[in-house]
Amino acid sequence: MVNEKIQAAEENLIHVYNRFPIALDRGEGMYVYDIEGKKYLDFAAGFAVTGLGYDNKELNEALKAQVDKLYHTSNLYYHECCGEAARELNRVCGMDRVFFTNSGGEANEGALKAARRYAYTKGTGRYEFIAMENSFHGRSFGAVSVTGHDSYREPFEPLVPGVKFAKFNDLDSVKALITDKTCAIILEPLQGEGGINLATQEFMEGIRAICDENDILMICDEVQCGMGRTGSMFAWQGFGVKPDILTMAKAIGNGIPVGAFAMTEKVAEYSLQPGDHGATYGGNPLACTAVKTVIEIFEREKIVDHVNEVARYLTKRLDELVEEVDCVTERKGKGLMQGLVITKPLAEVNKKAIEEGLLVIQAQGNVIRFVPPLIVKEKHIDEMIGKLSRALG
Ligand SMILES: *Cc1c(COP(=O)(O)O)cnc(C)c1O
Repeated sequence: MVNEKIQAAEENLIHVYNRFPIALDRGEGMYVYDIEGKKYLDFAAGFAVTGLGYDNKELNEALKAQVDKLYHTSNLYYHECCGEAARELNRVCGMDRVFFTNSGGEANEGALKAARRYAYTKGTGRYEFIAMENSFHGRSFGAVSVTGHDSYREPFEPLVPGVKFAKFNDLDSVKALITDKTCAIILEPLQGEGGINLATQEFMEGIRAICDENDILMICDEVQCGMGRTGSMFAWQGFGVKPDILTMAKAIGNGIPVGAFAMTEKVAEYSLQPGDHGATYGGNPLACTAVKTVIEIFEREKIVDHVNEVARYLTKRLDELVEEVDCVTERKGKGLMQGLVITKPLAEVNKKAIEEGLLVIQAQGNVIRFVPPLIVKEKHIDEMIGKLSRALG
């Protein structure tokens, strides 16, 4: 489909995305519609963002009401919902102090600064970061510096110094990198972009122990795997391994641009001080309304319980594909963040899926990634499996 709108985009945008030639117009529940009215079942959720799906009336009304009242003010003042959004987010993510950002990359950027600031106050001289191979933490300089893919980093070198990469789920490779200069270890409990790789219980516990023994901060990036997706509100809770700093974004605002990094009181005491950090838009009234309302809806609708229930069905149907379809070799992941390793070119399967009216995304390692809105039901999973089977066919 080539039309004026797509052509205008082609001619005017900087080409950093490999876009599919469709233009989306509106959404409802689990579905989005393009400008020609074609319907797509959405198992991508705008990269794991729209956890509550599209056109949630309660969220829409709350946002509209806030737009009419006040949608921006500076962080020199408090506003009606900043305290409430912060309190509720801290409560559900298990942290004590939060800073609102506009994106996941910015949340990680802030977390890295917060870790360095902690070491600075303590006068330890620690500045090194240990990150994981196959990780993804964002595109800004700090975030890309701890991202474990050469292709993301190389064109922009030199990056932030003092970063070393360990093998994910290999404690010995982490231990080998520890020095008296190690400041923080950053990891995703469930790697998304890197191929849907779930941390082992042993790895999470081992990282926690290494950090405790050496006064190193553990940073969990839950930008993608947080907010209900793995079957607990945040993935760390599923492991029972609490980080010192937690980063969030994607689903916490259901698509209103908002992210956050949060820390325990113990870290906050030595970390960022007035004047150390800021964000003009960060935590504005619209963003805070989104966060607060999304949490309200999550809890009232028992979204996390629903994820656990429906994920069992998704797992079963994906396992069947591994059994039955030659080009599907493995299922990975947890909850509603799963992947299938396939042996066919992903771009081809994705293109066919779009023709079938299905949106899925890919991840490293030739993985098709399934991160649907968390409101997905068994009937949508059946519909997805049907479309995907034809696209794989
Ligand atoms: C998407 C993502 C980011 C980056 O978030 P942006 O909002 O695109 O800056 C960081 N970490 C993880 C794990 C992500 O999935």
